[in-house]
Amino acid sequence: MLHIPDKKNLYKDVEIETFSPSKILHLPLSAFGGELEVIVQKGDRVLKHQKLAQKEGIFGGNIHAPVSGYIGELIIINGEPFLELFNDFLDEEVDAKNSLPTQISDFIQLLQDNGIEGSGGARFPTAAKYNVNEGQIDTLIINGAECEPYLSADYALMKSYANEISQTLHFIQHLYKIQTIILGIERMHKSLKPLLEKAFKHFNVEGKIKLLPDFYPQGGELQLIKSTTGKELKKGTIPSKEGILVSNVATVIAMYNAVFKGIPYVRRIVTLYDEHTNSGKNYWIPLGTTIAEISASFFPETSLPFSMIIGGPMMGKLVKDEKTSVHKGSGGLIRLKKKTNKTESCIGCGYCVEVCPQNLLPMEFSRNVERRDANSLKRFHLNDCIECGACAYICPSNIPLVQDIKTGKTMLV
Ligand code: SF4
Ligand code: SF4
Repeated sequence: MLHIPDKKNLYKDVEIETFSPSKILHLPLSAFGGELEVIVQKGDRVLKHQKLAQKEGIFGGNIHAPVSGYIGELIIINGEPFLELFNDFLDEEVDAKNSLPTQISDFIQLLQDNGIEGSGGARFPTAAKYNVNEGQIDTLIINGAECEPYLSADYALMKSYANEISQTLHFIQHLYKIQTIILGIERMHKSLKPLLEKAFKHFNVEGKIKLLPDFYPQGGELQLIKSTTGKELKKGTIPSKEGILVSNVATVIAMYNAVFKGIPYVRRIVTLYDEHTNSGKNYWIPLGTTIAEISASFFPETSLPFSMIIGGPMMGKLVKDEKTSVHKGSGGLIRLKKKTNKTESCIGCGYCVEVCPQNLLPMEFSRNVERRDANSLKRFHLNDCIECGACAYICPSNIPLVQDIKTGKTMLV
């Protein structure tokens, strides 16, 4: 386990701001279940919250308009498809439909219709996750342990929306007859505990707030299940088969909007952080807002070299083209000073093994990727790696372990 020095305490309590919708949005058309089918034409006028693209089935995903305006071109940025939407700033929206589901099947349909996806990064379709029977789940775990350095979006949600989170959890608990709900937060955020406990009590949520150690990583499903319930599930186990569901705090807020307000998933909270100025803030940002728009408004111009990361610094992705945009799994946009440390040979220190939450041997991945030895990669259980980045962070030789791991996984396909 790894303790990473962090700066989020500097800005996590600053009030959440709303990022003004920009003139043009690039709506991502890739989803967990594959590319979405666009159901509007170039030039169409669309209303805010109107469905623009879809994919059938619980593993599908729908995309809705975050603003009213006109449909532009289908474009490819960095190999990924996007749909242009030109904002007309009239903010005219579709009438909201929000009848509270009374059956699990209606709830699943509502999640699917409103394009709800896991917001912690993996973007697993929430309809697929919650497609379980009444009484099948005894424990629902809510992941409020935002252990990625610099990110404080989930903290800000729990602080500002404790009631909305609790109301949604009460609804889910009753619908599925779940015995207990455990909301896990890091010990460094313990000031939130009384606030969340009060909201749980107010909405009659049966469960508790559990303080977790301030280590990185915490968010892997099996790891979170162990730290909140003590149960150790074998790698590869589907938690719902063991009576457990895990959801992220931001996903619960997306569910709240769909269930209680009839609003589809069209915006999310994102932490913006700049290492040059050591400043950060949380914003509600419409999906499809380009990185270029956010950069121009939040990050001051600099001549210093930097890397822009979407997500957190440990598990996030390098932004290669600023025309890409915020999607449902983007919890952060982080501008970091560019590191120029040289890569050295492995010195066999074993630090990467010590920090690996999956008990793997990360140095073997680099070694066997270099040798193009897919059999050894399998033998060392490469596919069990959750790409948390802890090994690469700790490595004194600056070996790009996660990059090698990603390359290795392509060799196993
Ligand atoms: S091998 Fe994978 S799971 Fe283990 S520390 Fe490295 S990135 Fe994380
Ligand atoms: S931390 Fe780096 S140098 Fe140390 S054993 Fe792992 S790969 Fe080798």
